[in-house]
Amino acid sequence: MFDNLNLKLDKAFKTLKGTGKITEINVATTVKEIRRALIDADVNYKVAKEVTDTIKEEALGRDVLIAVSPGQLLIKITQEELTKLMGETKVDVNIKGDPAVVLISGLQGSGKTTFSGKFASYLKKQGRQVLLVACDIYRPAAIDQLKVLGEQIGVEVYSEPENKNALEIANNAIAYAKKTGKKTVIVDTAGRLAVDEQMMKEIEALKKALNPSETLFVVDAMTGQDAVNTAKTFDERLNFDGVVLTKLDGDTRGGAAISIRHVVNKPIKFISTGEKMENLDVFHPDRMAQRILGMGDVISLVERAQQTFDEDEAKRINAKIRKNQFNFDDFLSQLEQIKKMGNIKDLMGMIPGMGKAMKGLDIDDDSFRPIEAIIRSMTPLERENPDVIDGSRRKRIATGSGRTITEVNNLMKQFGDMRKLMKQMNKMGGAQKALGNIM
Ligand code: GDP
Repeated sequence: MFDNLNLKLDKAFKTLKGTGKITEINVATTVKEIRRALIDADVNYKVAKEVTDTIKEEALGRDVLIAVSPGQLLIKITQEELTKLMGETKVDVNIKGDPAVVLISGLQGSGKTTFSGKFASYLKKQGRQVLLVACDIYRPAAIDQLKVLGEQIGVEVYSEPENKNALEIANNAIAYAKKTGKKTVIVDTAGRLAVDEQMMKEIEALKKALNPSETLFVVDAMTGQDAVNTAKTFDERLNFDGVVLTKLDGDTRGGAAISIRHVVNKPIKFISTGEKMENLDVFHPDRMAQRILGMGDVISLVERAQQTFDEDEAKRINAKIRKNQFNFDDFLSQLEQIKKMGNIKDLMGMIPGMGKAMKGLDIDDDSFRPIEAIIRSMTPLERENPDVIDGSRRKRIATGSGRTITEVNNLMKQFGDMRKLMKQMNKMGGAQKALGNIM
């Protein structure tokens, strides 16, 4: 996410390095570079100009403290201004009513159906009873797609494949939700490839009749400036409450994230970063600004871990680590948990400095495959007692997994090092506890 923008901004800030003071002259080049980086990332020209003018003004007005370099001060100011531009603070979705109705709008292919599933899963985790409603009357495949997602996340999907009246389906669904005690109804609607009058009329009518407590507009961030224009058109007709930016995991240039709030004056509420149901984050302008500037976003990383990790499994593994019994089965289970959290490269980008370090590296979920293949070629006994894996067993495992003996040896070594480290940490923990008892 934002790799290119991040690199360009980094280069821009470097042009200010080594100077003792921020002056009209030395800040000019840097500000110009920042503006160019933003425009290259598809930020609306006017927005880029406005924000860089403010950054410049702010920078000139501030004293450079001894502790920070002018470059660092400028990064801080840029972070503050980007945060303001993206809305300052997060804005929650409004889920009210019995049932609460959430209307999902957007163009076809923007990621509405996928988001509907993710949002249902998100609400379910908060303990809400959710009903998903398939109101795409033009694409029968959309109903099936929603059903598959519903099954995956354990949320019921309401549909009437033969009915071609979206409003009727939605009303029936709401009645059904009332009858079955579902407190939130998410209505996934039909989109078109481009804005068209009939679609707008349909969604307008749905909004008027259903009176949703939240209307969300879903938009593909990869479409750059078009995303901003489509948002404007939808908002004029629908007066939606919030934006969902999807596909921020790809090579998105990021411009939509930065300009949409400013141009449309509606908050971004969620960002979607992949096709997995877990790849959804609440949008925080300050955290996003940090990510744009390559500072990572550890808080979101932890939040995602909290949402995805199976707590019982984490406790079980923790206990095994404490007893120095961590084995290959546990290792495999940990890999599975990490993969559930999302695209590995994206996760790494949430760790400060990591995104830049990993730029150009081709890391994806497949990177775990060789390791998984090797572990899966071990017998249950070997997985549980890694110490029994001698030379001849290693050879057999290599052949069985289709990997080289060197790869098997490397994994064994890494695993051994990991166990040693765990042991040491256990010892240190014990020492600390002992110290705590004395003091
Ligand atoms: P709809 O027509 O608006 O309902 O869009 P879909 O939900 O069917 O999504 C269109 C395509 O984009 C599908 O192939 C989805 O798997 C994919 N998609 C949706 N959200 C994301 C995302 O955040 N990241 C990526 N990489 N793909 C996504």
